[in-house]
Amino acid sequence: MAGLEDLYREIILDHYRNPRNRGELPVPPARRVEGFNPLCGDEVIVYVDLDAGVATVTDVKIAGQGCSISQSSASMMTGAVKGRSVEQVREVIRAFKAMMSIHERGLDGDGKEVEQAVLPDPSVALGDLEALRGVVKFPVRIKCATLSWNTLAQALDDAAAEAEAR
Ligand code: ZN
Repeated sequence: MAGLEDLYREIILDHYRNPRNRGELPVPPARRVEGFNPLCGDEVIVYVDLDAGVATVTDVKIAGQGCSISQSSASMMTGAVKGRSVEQVREVIRAFKAMMSIHERGLDGDGKEVEQAVLPDPSVALGDLEALRGVVKFPVRIKCATLSWNTLAQALDDAAAEAEAR
């Protein structure tokens, strides 16, 4: 039976074979952050352009190489974040991590540091990214899927820290 899994596989392969927003952006004004997943050998380089107020992702490009999961996830990510506000982008990052069952350090009700599941936000639509949902069944591949997202988050954190220091 041709089911959802086949459709998802098709979407992942399409993004792997025809990656969206592939290339580089001039640095500066763009920022360039590299991500590496030693478990699989995946490398993702995220170029991101922010507006002067560090409020909008005006452009994003991806370079690097790796497995189909890492590269298709990066391609889908560019479509989900390009032209969006940084606030919206952070919501999409959280929604994606929630789908990947990622746990992060946070504070519990008593202010103690604990590992907590990132909670899904049902108001954030993931579109094609839903195709990566099946990756959760293969824990070793989760780092492939989240590599570009962590790299993008790093770029946004760096930009915010610099803006604060100005
Ligand atoms: Zn990989």
